[in-house]
Amino acid sequence: MTATESSPTSPPPAADAGSATAASPDRTPLGTARAQLATAVGLLGYDDGLHAMLATPRREITVAVPLRRDDGSTELFTGYRVQHNISRGPGKGGLRYAPSVDPDEVRALAMWMTWKCAVVELPYGGAKGGVTIDPRRYSRTELERVTRRYTSEIMPMIGPERDIMAPDIGTDQQTMAWVMDTYSVNRGYTIPAVTTGKPLEMGGSLGRATATSRGVVHSTRAALADAGLGLGEVSVAVQGFGKVGSHAARFYAEGGAKVVAVSDQDGGVHDPGGLNVPALMAHVAETGSVVGFPDADPIDNRSLLGLDVDVLVPAAVEGVLDERTALGVKARWVIEGANGPTTADGDRVLAERGVVVVPDILANAGGVVVSYFEWVQANQAYWWTEHEIEERLEQRMLSAYAAVSQAARADGLSLREAALVIGVRRVAEAHQIRGLYP
Ligand code: NAD
Repeated sequence: MTATESSPTSPPPAADAGSATAASPDRTPLGTARAQLATAVGLLGYDDGLHAMLATPRREITVAVPLRRDDGSTELFTGYRVQHNISRGPGKGGLRYAPSVDPDEVRALAMWMTWKCAVVELPYGGAKGGVTIDPRRYSRTELERVTRRYTSEIMPMIGPERDIMAPDIGTDQQTMAWVMDTYSVNRGYTIPAVTTGKPLEMGGSLGRATATSRGVVHSTRAALADAGLGLGEVSVAVQGFGKVGSHAARFYAEGGAKVVAVSDQDGGVHDPGGLNVPALMAHVAETGSVVGFPDADPIDNRSLLGLDVDVLVPAAVEGVLDERTALGVKARWVIEGANGPTTADGDRVLAERGVVVVPDILANAGGVVVSYFEWVQANQAYWWTEHEIEERLEQRMLSAYAAVSQAARADGLSLREAALVIGVRRVAEAHQIRGLYP
């Protein structure tokens, strides 16, 4: 069967456990990503051959990243870059520095980027990179050396027409400036479009630093509007207070929502009357954590997930909503700021309990949308105003949400299933139109 012959009633293809197409029951990010793909492939009625092509990364590289530490000793890290799919354009995806980084996590994150870019109609495939390192344990100069060595090791795979990096957990705009500089120095001229999420002074885009969070809030507004509600009528809890979670909390509060709890990897804070988010951001800037914020009660990350709020925003790491924690969720909406925060089992439990989940590949796509704007601006060496960027971001998020929500209603699917079907179908169609070489 071809990509466009869909038969919604066909069962998913049988797959071997452990193979790239296995709808694995495991709770790892890759198990979740594969199970989601298998669901979409089943709904689209694709055959085993196409399923295998969609499930399997196109290219992967593993590199050794030796670091000379500030004290003169050496340490060795492992880095990865995975291009899951490049049929619709160059690979696009973040660079993660975290102790959890392993090849399968990077593969899962790269696969989600493929569907995400297709859902918001960007001319990109999906990629992801990572280094297994806890960045909090290393100095700035050590992180600069790690970044430059990692970049030079993966040089053959990246480039503005090949694979474009952006910040993710544990990396930031400075990391992107180092990647861009290392790549440019080795090529002999300045190539800003090799990364996005760069500092404004160095070819970054206005609006990029807050784009993921703005997109999360746009998709929340759209989901609430489906139920006849506005932001001013809801309470919100946000897990993760980093680049995504902190600005999302701020935009929720600015939009009139009551942000009652936030957390980071050290713990959380809770005030049923509503937290003062700007004061909380100032506290984090000073102390490095939300923990210890005065005038709020401490709360742990797990309890935050079960708070009696309207909107729950996991914006930290994968797999936090599994079948057990999903049972405790009292929120009516889960807006996935993080990538892969809900396991396949957690998703089933949330659906059974009537919780509306706005999936990661839609909810947090604002970041890659403005990354695309940054890449376009860098390629044409002409920068847009903040107003132009914010307007185009909102328009893209709302039109993607409308398409997904309409497909969900028309076909009786969850928002995640509808988003996956749209994303996977667009990628499969690109495969089909291009044909199989040779
Ligand atoms: P970040 O490093 O800026 O922040 C991560 C936050 O999560 C920090 O507050 C950290 O303390 C917290 N955290 C880490 N481990 C945790 C744990 N086990 N429990 C609770 N909190 C924990 O990263 P970010 O860029 O904000 O990314 C957060 C999530 O959003 C990731 O899943 C990332 O892939 C996704 N995402 C990021 C972007 C982006 O533009 N940065 C875009 C799309 C999706």
